[in-house]
Amino acid sequence: MEQAVSVANLRLTPPYGLDPTATSSPHQQIQRSVDSRAKRYARANPFLSIASAVLVFSLTLLLVTSGATTIIEDAVRRVTDYGYLVLLLFVASVWMTTGVLLLPLQLTSSYFLEHAYGFSNQTIPAWIGERVKGLMLSTVLVAPVLLFFYYALRTLGNLWWLPAATLLCVIQLLVMRIVPTFIFPLFYKFKSLEEGDLKQAVRQTAVTVGVPIEGVYVVNLSKNTKKANATFTGRGGSRRVILGDTLVANLTDDEIFAVFAHELAHYKLKHMWVGFTVSVAATFLTLFLVAQLYVASIGWFGLTSPEQIAALPVAALWLGVLSLVTTPFGNFISRAQEHAADRWGVKMSGNKKAFANVLAKVARISIADPLPHPLVEFLFHRHPSLSKRIAFVQQLPGS
Ligand SMILES: [Zn+2]
Repeated sequence: MEQAVSVANLRLTPPYGLDPTATSSPHQQIQRSVDSRAKRYARANPFLSIASAVLVFSLTLLLVTSGATTIIEDAVRRVTDYGYLVLLLFVASVWMTTGVLLLPLQLTSSYFLEHAYGFSNQTIPAWIGERVKGLMLSTVLVAPVLLFFYYALRTLGNLWWLPAATLLCVIQLLVMRIVPTFIFPLFYKFKSLEEGDLKQAVRQTAVTVGVPIEGVYVVNLSKNTKKANATFTGRGGSRRVILGDTLVANLTDDEIFAVFAHELAHYKLKHMWVGFTVSVAATFLTLFLVAQLYVASIGWFGLTSPEQIAALPVAALWLGVLSLVTTPFGNFISRAQEHAADRWGVKMSGNKKAFANVLAKVARISIADPLPHPLVEFLFHRHPSLSKRIAFVQQLPGS
């Protein structure tokens, strides 16, 4: 099914790439093109995510050390004594407590900030409605996983991590396979890219490198996000190239081809499967460590049995601590893959200039901070900063 995707109103004024005649560095040029308000916005966001992660951790720690989790469990047990129901009510109560305490911060990050910078015209009731919907959806998705974890803990004791990690990896695999093919089309409209030299070149290249495609599509990503994006979906005969409308509106044919070359590189270099393999190993290792640390540490909080529901947040705390190592490690691999895809793409397309221009334009379309604080990049970013990518592309051989 093909529906209209309008790109005309997404155009930047003026279209902004890199000026080859300028004496200033690409970084200075991007810095000038992204306005200062947008830069402040891009910097406020990671700060607020760090603040809310620290707060969630501290609140959970406070609930455990103060004995509040035991009080909550006792209160729930006055209503029901059926273990699995106690678990769900307990988690809901803890979630609601932290949720209410975090409300001011969440309002700031996802409501006031968006409004202050003019990126959103949502009303407060609409914002609340969206959050309630999100909360209900995550409850439906998370509750069965929690019940499974608890079941594993009760039946297998300290070996619970084995089936738990297996389940998480299966879920990840399903999400990888199902979301792009079945869920994504429910929310976005696709339109075939108009026939012409570009489409011809894309098809031809795909065949040459042995990744034939069914078509090239433009998708209306701009309805929800300012991010500029492109990807490959499907397999075999239904494989498609998907380009975000914000990209198509602002890029020349050469530059769109560069984006395609980059995505093709991810595909040819099997980055998704490398990433998945690393993630499987990390999941098993992390949950194994959580299981050992959990049993060793519940005594510190005056808790006695690992099966005690009031003790379970201790496992969540350890998960939080270990994610300080696993998340940056996963991001490090992802950033290495981005450089590898740029290298492969430049070599294949032979057009370094188009790559650098795309990156400069993406900085402006996505309102990305072109050079975030190195620590922020190391901890959170799955892509190298745009200034670093441009510098990387420019030192590659070719023109
Ligand atoms: Zn990429």
